[in-house]
Formats: sequence, C-alpha cells, structure tokens
Amino acid sequence: MAKKILVLAEVRDHSLRNVSFEAIAAGRQLAESGQVVVALLGEKIASLGTELLHYGADRVLVVEDEKLKNYSSDGYSQALLEIVNQENPEGIIIGHTALGKDLAPKIASKLNVGLISDVTSIEVEDDDVIFTRPIYSGKAFEKKKTLDDVVIITIRPNNIEALDKDGSRSGEIEKISANITDLRTIVQEVVRKASDGVDLSEAKVVVAGGRGVKSAEGFEPLKELASVLGGAVGASRGACDADYCDYSLQIGQTGKVVTPDLYIACGISGAIQHLAGMSNSKVIVAINKDPDANIFNVADYGIVGDLFEVVPLLTEEFKKI
Ligand code: FAD
Repeated sequence: MAKKILVLAEVRDHSLRNVSFEAIAAGRQLAESGQVVVALLGEKIASLGTELLHYGADRVLVVEDEKLKNYSSDGYSQALLEIVNQENPEGIIIGHTALGKDLAPKIASKLNVGLISDVTSIEVEDDDVIFTRPIYSGKAFEKKKTLDDVVIITIRPNNIEALDKDGSRSGEIEKISANITDLRTIVQEVVRKASDGVDLSEAKVVVAGGRGVKSAEGFEPLKELASVLGGAVGASRGACDADYCDYSLQIGQTGKVVTPDLYIACGISGAIQHLAGMSNSKVIVAINKDPDANIFNVADYGIVGDLFEVVPLLTEEFKKI
C-alpha cells in the first residue's frame, strides 16, 4: 500500500548526520510505492536538501528560521507538528539520537499516538509492519507493531542501511515557514568538546579502551588505530572514571550505545554495563591480557595479549591495506 512517510533530517555542524539517510531508507520501506518527505529544520540549511534527494527522498520541506538554529524541543516540535498537520503522513521517522530521544515522545504525545523507539530493523509483510527493537540492554529483542493510524518510530543509528547515494535522483525542495512562538527555552550557544572527527555513535569502526590502557597517553595507540581505520575512539567507564579520557567517550548502560561494523575492545574486562552499549556491534574484536575476561564471551575474535604490543601491530598491518 502506498503511504506518505515523514522523515526528520538531523543536522550537526552544517552537515547532515548519517542517521538522516538511514531514516530515508526506513521511510522507503514503510512508504512502499508512496512518498518519503523529509523535514529539514534549522538555519541556513537549505543547501543540504539536494543531498537528501540523492539518498532517496521524494520531497524535502525546508524550514529555515533563526529560532531553529539550535535544537530546542519547543521550537522543533512546533515546526515538525506544523508539517505533520499539513502533510498528514502515515508514518514519522526520527533518529534515535539525543535529539530524537527528546523530540519523538513529545511529537507522539501531541498526536496522541504510541511511539516505537530504538528500532533496529523493519519487516513489511503485506499490510503488517513489524519493528524490531532491543530490550534489557540488548540481551533480547522484541517485535512490535502499532495499531495507531500514524506510526512514529525512532531508529537506532548504524542499523538500517542507507540507500546508495545517487546524484541522478531528483525531487522537490520546498521552502516553507512555520509559526514558532512562545519558546520557553532558547539555546543561546552549543559549546561542544573538541572531538577527533568521527562521531562515536555513527562510526562504522570503534576502537575502545578500558582501564587496561592505564593512562591518558595509553590512548594514543588506540587513536592511531582508529584514525587508520577511519573510526572513532570510545572508552569504558573504568577508563573515564580513571580520568584517562572524557566521559563523552563512555560506552555502555550509562554512556553511548554504539553498533559499528567493527568494535575493537582494548583492555576492557566486559562488565555487563559495558556490554549493554556495544554487544550488538556487527564484529567484536577483544584484546585482553586475561584469557578469562568476560569480553571474550561476546567477541567474534579474541586476542590474548598486551594491548600495547597488539594494537601497534594491527595499526601497521592495516596501514598496508
Ligand atoms: P576493568 O574491569 O578494570 O578491566 C580492565 C581490563 O584490562 C582487565 O580485563 C585486564 O585484564 C585488562 N588489561 C589490563 N592491562 C592490559 C594490557 N596491557 N593489555 C590488555 N589487557 C589489559 N561501565 C561501562 O563501561 N559503561 C557504562 O555505561 C557503565 N555503566 C555503569 C552503571 C552502573 C550503575 C554501574 C554500577 C557500573 C557501570 N559501569 C559501566 C562500570 C562497570 O561495571 C565496570 O566497572 C567497567 O566497565 C570496568 O571498566 P574496564 O573494563 O575498563 O576496567
């Protein structure tokens, strides 16, 4: 059945986040032969519309407003709800990011429909659409469908594959305005800690260090390996608590959830709270001196050894490829 699906694009530092393209792919699945409409909200972002078309959007609705320069749940929900009222989509897809986790429940409650959050895959069978999402910190999965007329989901980054970018795809880009009033909070400025490039929650490769890294300097070989692989550096809470790195790198139950194609755990014991943030990675490599470390129970490949010997060797080998 042809449906109209609305996708929210997410912009950071004037670039579209990958989850926007993944959400378009999810939208294509739900829309079947229908339309995928993308809402692009922000300030000075209209030029990003074409890229959304190249990734499979049929239409892009651009709302440029200085009140949308920085994310606020009031501003974004007003703009998005105006688009929803205008377009009457049968589905709304938002990334399961910090922004999406804040915005999606607000949109769902305003529309008085249920929200299926943190979706990792979608199966469309005849008129049934089944959404899979992890529960109990990734130890099990549940399959859900909605009985509401409008389905709202958030999708976990790095799980639903984006369509290949195709510059020959075209569609409409429309500039529209939204009546954004009564903002209760105004974000004046967002000051981000400097990061070394690749966004941890969207990285295809994560090289993570734990207490076994032993110091802030001990992270240097991990950074080099991550850079050779085009990945990001992450950490266990043990490493963050020991002040070897910033808490923004923490992966786990009380940190970020990542699902890269490749996760390399270096000097991490594999506590259950850490596994909650990475055990759904596609391939897990563990490097640990202790052959009985729990991390080996979830690893696809295990290297028993000293990370300070193994990591530089891996880096040298990957440099040759
Ligand atoms: P350790 O457990 O100390 O392990 C260090 C490992 O390094 C050991 O296995 C050791 O064999 C190995 N090692 C040492 N030297 C070397 C070397 N030279 N080469 C190779 N291997 C070496 N933790 C998280 O990670 N994320 C969370 O979000 C999180 N949330 C939590 C929430 C709660 C409520 C609680 C109670 C705990 C939480 N924790 C979390 C903490 C968690 O329980 C563990 O304490 C933590 O993950 C341990 O970090 P680690 O593996 O780096 O350190």
